[in-house]
Amino acid sequence: MLIACPLLLIKGTQACEDNRPTSLKPVIGIDLGTTYSCVGVMKGGKVEIIPNSQGHRTTPSYVSFSDQERLVGEGAKQALSSNPRGTVFDVKRLIGRNYYDKGVQEDIKHFPFQVLNQGDSPAIKVDGKIYSPEQISAMVLRNLKESAESYLGEAVDDAVITVPAYFNDAQRAATKDAAKIAGLNVLRILNEPTSAALAYGLLNVDINDPKERNIVVYDLGGGTFDVSVLVADEGVFEVLATSGDTHLGGEDFDQRIIDHLASRFKRKTGVDISKSTRAVAKLKGAVENAKKILSSESTTTIDIEAFQGGEDFSETFTRAKFEELNEDLFQKTLGPVKQALADANLTPREVDHIILVGGSTRIPRVRSLLKEYFGKAPLTNVNPDEAVAEGAAIQGCIINDCPGAECILMMDVNPLTLGIETEGGVMTELIRRGTSIPTRKVQTFSTTTENQATVSIKVFEGERPLTKDNILLGQFDLTGIPHAARGEPKIEVSFEIDSNGILKVMAEDKGTGKIQSLTIASSGRLSNQEVDQMIADAAEYEEADKKFREVVEPDDYSQSVVEHGEL
Ligand code: AMP
Repeated sequence: MLIACPLLLIKGTQACEDNRPTSLKPVIGIDLGTTYSCVGVMKGGKVEIIPNSQGHRTTPSYVSFSDQERLVGEGAKQALSSNPRGTVFDVKRLIGRNYYDKGVQEDIKHFPFQVLNQGDSPAIKVDGKIYSPEQISAMVLRNLKESAESYLGEAVDDAVITVPAYFNDAQRAATKDAAKIAGLNVLRILNEPTSAALAYGLLNVDINDPKERNIVVYDLGGGTFDVSVLVADEGVFEVLATSGDTHLGGEDFDQRIIDHLASRFKRKTGVDISKSTRAVAKLKGAVENAKKILSSESTTTIDIEAFQGGEDFSETFTRAKFEELNEDLFQKTLGPVKQALADANLTPREVDHIILVGGSTRIPRVRSLLKEYFGKAPLTNVNPDEAVAEGAAIQGCIINDCPGAECILMMDVNPLTLGIETEGGVMTELIRRGTSIPTRKVQTFSTTTENQATVSIKVFEGERPLTKDNILLGQFDLTGIPHAARGEPKIEVSFEIDSNGILKVMAEDKGTGKIQSLTIASSGRLSNQEVDQMIADAAEYEEADKKFREVVEPDDYSQSVVEHGEL
């Protein structure tokens, strides 16, 4: 292996930023969701989703405060109806954002808890105390960490945490801070759609098949809808476009059912429940349950004893009615899908895989809609509630180099560009940074002077256009080139990296068939920090380097090998 970290090199909005784990203790993968969170770990080559103390595989991202206690997860969600002002949820909508953001201001209007402005950041005032969104998220994260510790029977310090692809730096940094408060060391912040694609095994493509794969990640959760278009190119994911609706999901579908059933109840009994928070909360729970049942059954009944005004509640509810009530909302999700495809310059038929994330993608009508639109069925082989956490657990295992990771992803990438020096001390690229390995690249060069008998092949790695700024890995001479005019001999240089990261450089004089080669093992090459430093340097000098390239490029510098001494 070249280095353990860049197995997954993600371009676009994702930073490939690693803190190496403190030890080989387990690394958990956390999907910190708006409404529900999920945590997983890789054991024995497969991902295990960790149940919470109630035995459930997802945990509500809720925290509830009262005089007596602080509840996190299931208990907190249940407390919402009895303690609405003291129950905090949806903080993912606030984390890392400015208090005056339009979205924040809109959300605040609908929260039953109090949100204040603290130095232009939103803060939550509950039970007489003020908490930052980071602190609330930390409570959810700590709960997940504790579930993991009791499940695994050992301390857990390291985690990979996912965030939406559209999260900006501030939102990512705030998520990291939340983890720090919870006592977790974040090995990587991973984009949710990328994580889901990992869980679906979409990185595990045949590396000899150079075809790019276009992937649509359709993530319909409880309160949010996100769609992302990714391209997987030889094991490297790139997020091409994202779109979505920050207020569309399962809760809206539930609301449509609640409105429908409440008006039927009123017609039948004359009792209006709309002003009774308690009755609405009871109906809400029953409705969500019924909706879930209708993903596998065509009919269900909703029974609530002593519902309101001395009346029981009993209704039969069908899948057909559910679909009728929500068809426009299902159709609405296609708007962002079209937008993301247009931004990625793709047609629906050019999409190779549609993958599903979020509990609401279990709804059969959602699946059939996608099938109609894309002309192919979405993949359904991963639990949509767990896909993101699964991917994060896999990523954690890869970073940790844990046993089993190699069975899932045998793909590595070279962390820095490899090339040779050509005339003028120019770095001529053969294998670009981020290319998955094993790989082989061949390029033909020639001589720069009349009757040049020897060429020197100097192998460098680095991102700068001049070899003096990069690192010399090794060099050799190819001698005995017959007399010829400059530019006439054809010297074929090949770079080959095997699956162990070993680079073999070969130069062949096509005229005589003479070959010289050099093998450079990966060991003793750069550490992660050095690689990061080199990439950072390249970014820092980008402007100057760009000017340099503009001057040099017209000379077609890549076609000649630097002359070696006298003839
Ligand atoms: P998420 O935010 O991704 O955890 O999604 C949670 C949403 O998925 C909630 O609105 C759930 O009611 C919904 N959900 C979970 N399971 C199902 C199901 N079987 N059918 C329909 N919706 C579901």
